[in-house]
Amino acid sequence: MDSLDSYLRAGRIASEVRENARRKYHVGSTLLQICESIEHEIKSKTAEPAFPVNVSLNEIAAHYTAEPGDQTVVKDGDILKIDIGVQIQGYIADTAVTVCYDPKHEGLVRAAEAALSEAVRIARVGTKSGDIGKIIESTIAKFGYRPIQNLSGHSLQQYTIHAGRSIPNIRTIGSSFSLAANEAYAIEPFVTTKDGHGVVYEGRIRNIYGITSRKPVKEPDADEFLEKIWERFRTLPFALRWMTDIYEEKKVRQLADLLVRKRNIHAYPILVEGNGKVVSQAEHTIITKDTGTDIITL
Ligand code: MN
Ligand code: MN
Repeated sequence: MDSLDSYLRAGRIASEVRENARRKYHVGSTLLQICESIEHEIKSKTAEPAFPVNVSLNEIAAHYTAEPGDQTVVKDGDILKIDIGVQIQGYIADTAVTVCYDPKHEGLVRAAEAALSEAVRIARVGTKSGDIGKIIESTIAKFGYRPIQNLSGHSLQQYTIHAGRSIPNIRTIGSSFSLAANEAYAIEPFVTTKDGHGVVYEGRIRNIYGITSRKPVKEPDADEFLEKIWERFRTLPFALRWMTDIYEEKKVRQLADLLVRKRNIHAYPILVEGNGKVVSQAEHTIITKDTGTDIITL
C-alpha cells in the first residue's frame, strides 16, 4: 500500500494534536481560537487540515466550524466535540475527542470512548460492518445511553472523506459488508442520553463547504474564487475563514452564496440531536491489513 506511510504520518500528527486538545482547558476560549490554534498546530507539524476543525457544542452532534470572527465562548457546563482531520498528499486521518468540565457529562464521554475501543478491537479484514455497529450499540447501552442511529463511520480514500462505505453505530438496518484489506476506515460512535431521540436532523447553520462542480459560472469573480478553492482544497471541505486572507469577509460570503446557488459548491448543514439533548463522540481511523489492523490515530 503506497499510501501507508502518508496515512501513518497523518495519523500520528492527528493523534498528537487531538491529545493536546483533550488536555487543554477550553473554558473561556472562543470556538474561533480553538479552531485556529488546532489548524495552526497541524500546519506546524508539516501537514494540512483535511477539513475545518469541527467544534460542535452540546446538542450539535457534528459539522459546526468557527465562522470568520466567531465569538462563541466555551462555558464550563458545555460538552464540546472536537473533530480533527489531517491530510498528507490527500491521505486522511480523521479523529475526534469530546471535552467537558462538568461531571454530569462524563458518563457520556466515557461511553463514546468505550464503544470506540470495543469497535476497533474487533475491526479487522473480514469483520462485518454490522458487527461493529452491534458492539458499539451494546457498549453504549451498558452505560445507560443511546447511540445516534443516523450518524456513522465511513471508508476514506485519497482526497475523499466519505468514500462510499458506512460503518453503523447500531446493529444494522439493511446491508452489511465485510472490511476489505488495505482500506482506511473511520469509526465514530456518537452518544446521547436516554431521553435523546437518537437521531440527528439538519440544522439551519451551514459553515462547512466543498466543491461539487468546477464548471465555470461565467462570472469572473466567482470563477476565480472557484479556481482558488480548487487549488487550495481540491474536493476536501473548507471554511470561509480559510479564504479571508485574500478576500474581505463580505465578499467571501457573497461569492460562496452565489456558488451554492449555482451548485458549484455544497454547504454542509450542522447536525442536531432530535430532542435537543447533548451528544458525545469519539473517533479513530484504522487501516486494515492482512497482517492486522493499524489504528493510525491511537
Ligand atoms: Mn471526524
Ligand atoms: Mn469521520
